[in-house]
Amino acid sequence: MIEKIAYRARRKWRDVTTIRRPLGAGPAGQEKISLVLYFDYEREFGNIAAKDSSETGFNAIIDILNKNAIRTTWNCVGKISESYSKTISQIISNGHEIACHTYNHIEPLSTDYEKLFNDIGQFKTTFKNKYKVDVQGFHSPSDGWSKQLIEILSKHGFRYDIAVENKDQNHNACYLITTDGYLSKNTHSILRIPSVSDDWMMISKHLEPEKMLSHWQSFLTEKYYGKTIAVGFHPWVIGKNKGRIDIFEHFIHSLQNFKDLQLFTGSEITKWYQE
Ligand SMILES: [Zn+2]
Repeated sequence: MIEKIAYRARRKWRDVTTIRRPLGAGPAGQEKISLVLYFDYEREFGNIAAKDSSETGFNAIIDILNKNAIRTTWNCVGKISESYSKTISQIISNGHEIACHTYNHIEPLSTDYEKLFNDIGQFKTTFKNKYKVDVQGFHSPSDGWSKQLIEILSKHGFRYDIAVENKDQNHNACYLITTDGYLSKNTHSILRIPSVSDDWMMISKHLEPEKMLSHWQSFLTEKYYGKTIAVGFHPWVIGKNKGRIDIFEHFIHSLQNFKDLQLFTGSEITKWYQE
């Protein structure tokens, strides 16, 4: 109970000590949706239940993306580089972007500054040394983020994060999130790409695959023209059964058939806004 109250207080604190500066229409322009597809690639390091279905989900997703010539963003848990290094190389060689989902799958809003700083630093260094990748993007486990996270990401040279939009804000557009203005000597800022949906409702609400599919498709409407949005998936969630793999493939096809849409990786979006 006390833990819950403390967590809510930290959430409130981050919301009043950071500033959002909304940005204009995305790179696809006013008449189209700019969409980022992202994957939280965590294997058993994020959730032990993920162990068995991760391999199936990973292979199926990579295959479907390849067949459709789609490039996406993969938020990896750093530990995967120790046990499943080949799959990281596969993501890179297929032209996808690697982003950070922390090294140890830790929740930023509940982790102290030093531990978080070192964890994210370890990710950055490992991927630079082992894969020659300069990682620019971040997506938080459990969607927890804090003012200190923004500062740490900025200090480690990250340029954007993908985060679930607070329901009451609901901009569904990119914005710059900065730490200036309140009790802060130095300003840190990164671009934020709002995530509007992922596959989690199939776990949390036992949503049937068909209902999940129509939820994803509900974002392919005029309402999102001019917006930059992200939709996310977990290979282990998709890999649980054939029904889920099928709806994932179906969704990819509906993206291909929806003409007022352009796909980007997170770093392509960031580059466009910052140039
Ligand atoms: Zn995760």
